[in-house]
Amino acid sequence: MIEPTELQSYAGRPAAAGGRAPDPVNAPMIRHWCEAMGDANPAYAGPDAIAPPAMLQVWTMAGLSGHGSRSGAYDELLGRLDADGYASVVATDCEQEYLAPLRPGQRVLFESEIETVSPEKTTALGTGHFVTTRTELRAYDEAAGEKPEEARPVATHRFRILKFRPAAGEQPPRRSAEPGAGQSARQPTGQPKRGHGTGLRPRPVVNRDNEGFWQGVAEGELRFQRCTDCATPRFPWLPGCNACGSDAWSAEAASGEGTVYSQVVVHHPLPAAFAAPYSVALVELAEGVRVVSNVVGLAPDQVRIGLPVRLSLERCDDELTLPLFRPAGPDHLPVLRIPVTRTLIVAGAIATRDYQDVHHDAELARAKGAPDVFMNILTSNGLVGRYVTDWAGSGATILRIALRLGVPAYPGDELTFTGRVVDRVPGRSDPGAGGDGRTELTLAVVGSTARGAHVTAEVRLLADPSGGPA
Ligand code: ZN
Repeated sequence: MIEPTELQSYAGRPAAAGGRAPDPVNAPMIRHWCEAMGDANPAYAGPDAIAPPAMLQVWTMAGLSGHGSRSGAYDELLGRLDADGYASVVATDCEQEYLAPLRPGQRVLFESEIETVSPEKTTALGTGHFVTTRTELRAYDEAAGEKPEEARPVATHRFRILKFRPAAGEQPPRRSAEPGAGQSARQPTGQPKRGHGTGLRPRPVVNRDNEGFWQGVAEGELRFQRCTDCATPRFPWLPGCNACGSDAWSAEAASGEGTVYSQVVVHHPLPAAFAAPYSVALVELAEGVRVVSNVVGLAPDQVRIGLPVRLSLERCDDELTLPLFRPAGPDHLPVLRIPVTRTLIVAGAIATRDYQDVHHDAELARAKGAPDVFMNILTSNGLVGRYVTDWAGSGATILRIALRLGVPAYPGDELTFTGRVVDRVPGRSDPGAGGDGRTELTLAVVGSTARGAHVTAEVRLLADPSGGPA
């Protein structure tokens, strides 16, 4: 067994010394990456193109040939963990700060050190050690004849992996993957626990009094009734009018705008289909009726009475879609839904030069305990970058992306991105000090599948206060 003190001794030792990106920053790799991510930001094309910031790690990937710039210390550490049975590996966190944009023609140099090795931790995936590396990247303009000695700092990159021994036990059903434990070729093992979103939500009982409501949901609408005698709207669906007793009515589609009228956060008891804590809200629709539902896309403890919300038909599983609500308003980014196809996963892996078999070979992924291939962390990072600049516009400058992975994203999933502005500092980069007076925004972004959060990210960016979202 490797001793804890011995593990600690690896902290501060190099993980990659004298690293040099195999290719200069170049337009074809940028274009392939943008195509794979579906990122149409014009800032990444044309004569003044910059490289997408979220593409940072791609430049230093060794690709199909292996780990060209790794140090003896890093390989030795991973080897010792392997030998102790911590043979599986997952990427769990990625934190990038962008000091200057990269442009085609620049060559990236990097130095990486082992920052920390955690004591043994038990996670949903199994028991293991988190290994964090910190990389400093510099670049020089090779195309303009600059020398490596002239390289200037462009970014820092912190990356955390979990080297772990998979938990023993039977393979649970696919839906028991829990958030917060990283992406893995291994599913969390052992008995599915209650109250962690491990089961299916209850099925609705459809009868002749409410079938019009469920028909509406199937057609993408939230329908309420209106009495055709006294015009009183009503919800939930009932055979007669509470106001006048008439049984004549018509159905109308709600606009989807509403506000939280009352709400509770459920912590306990924990029904199997729900991941606690979660918000149960009474939403007052613009049309005047109130609907019991869930507010999603916001931490439950941040749901407040009076919060503006918007209807969102959410796919809970393969058979069930429910009318839920998401925060509305200027501080909330529009929802982006991305179908996770096999093509997206493989194209993302190749465009990020990640040839780990679990991202392209379903048979090998299954041999490692996953139900199928799954999305790599560099693609998740790229999609976060795309989501925020789709909203903030091509004039925005991303300063930092810090993300944590939760449940894996498999073919057939749908990734639903939501985001909101959590902090806004005007004139952060002072024009007098060489800045341009734009507003610095901090965004909280979540990309979820039907099984929970796949990626949780904090993004800092500069945006123009005179236009767009800022
Ligand atoms: Zn009536």
